[in-house]
Amino acid sequence: MTSTLITGIGELTTKDPELGRLTDAALVFTDGLVAWVGPATSAPAADARVDVEGRAVLPGWVDSHTHLLFAGDRTAEFEARMAGTSYTAGGIAVTVGATRAASDREVEDNLRRHIAEAVSQGTTTIETKTGYGLNVVDEVRSARIAAGVADEVTFLGAHLVPPGADADEYVALVIGDMLDAVAPHVRWADVFCEQGAFDEDQSRAVLEASRAKGLGLRVHGNQLGEGPGVRLAVEVGAASVDHCTYLSSADVDALAGSSTVATLLPACDLSTRQSLPPARRLLDAGATVALASNCNPGSSYTTSMAYCITTAVLQMRMTIEEAVTAATLNGAKALRRNDVGHLSPGARADVHVLDAPSTTHLAYRPGVPLTRAVWRAGVRQR
Ligand SMILES: [Zn+2]
Repeated sequence: MTSTLITGIGELTTKDPELGRLTDAALVFTDGLVAWVGPATSAPAADARVDVEGRAVLPGWVDSHTHLLFAGDRTAEFEARMAGTSYTAGGIAVTVGATRAASDREVEDNLRRHIAEAVSQGTTTIETKTGYGLNVVDEVRSARIAAGVADEVTFLGAHLVPPGADADEYVALVIGDMLDAVAPHVRWADVFCEQGAFDEDQSRAVLEASRAKGLGLRVHGNQLGEGPGVRLAVEVGAASVDHCTYLSSADVDALAGSSTVATLLPACDLSTRQSLPPARRLLDAGATVALASNCNPGSSYTTSMAYCITTAVLQMRMTIEEAVTAATLNGAKALRRNDVGHLSPGARADVHVLDAPSTTHLAYRPGVPLTRAVWRAGVRQR
């Protein structure tokens, strides 16, 4: 058994309901788990000791929504968008072509490189999705590669109807042979319920078939306009509905009265020049709000959770406390995980040290890289 004491913590954000936020604190982890949290003056002895000299410490980010099983690049589409072309779901097909053409090695290297980039910025739990294969062979390949690398893997065969295919025939494939082949490699299933992707009936069929296979449910909904995604997600008991950019009052009420997390993806809304999601309406109504990067090569090519937090605070009127909770504890709730996203004794030792005295600096010093050190399950990452 080896233990590490982190002391000299100026501000310790635990996201534990009882411990809250401590000053002049210390933390001990043993064999990958948090063993003790409290005032620095009463910290127990440990095998190793790290003094963070007054810096802020918080749980590692939980990024509950990414699409990292891809190859290729969509710089040209982004450039055209910045010149005034509007975003549509169809751009996904470009990445599908590049991903199918790539070797297993290229897809895996790309996944590992992006996860390493995220970890170096404080992310310690990451979800990723299939969805750039869109046939049985390529969806299974993506799921198999991700299963060995990402913390949580989601089947998103229902990302887009492949160009030239019939939508209903494609849905039949997704919920038939594709689901059978992919299910052993994943914990979650997701559907892009949106104009230009899958309608309400098709989305419900995907979710019900996935649930029957024992998978947890997630939904991409209400990204490009109001629609049935949020309502459907709550109806089927999805863990999370992601995007939530355009919401009716009924959608807000439904989320507030449910255990479905509203996962907001502000980096995506900025990159596609949409409105930002109505975080304040959701929070004031009592909904559980998470923040995630939605890192993907088309609509949100960033792994920076700090950027999402900065945007949430400066532009979506979330408080620092709300934004940090959304990127840690509530990201974990969106993945139905209670071992990460907080630093209670017994939790996984996912420790993020900022080069700043408090988490306020995440929004107060926008764009400045503040990650000083990261431990994941007690193992130093940077
Ligand atoms: Zn997405």
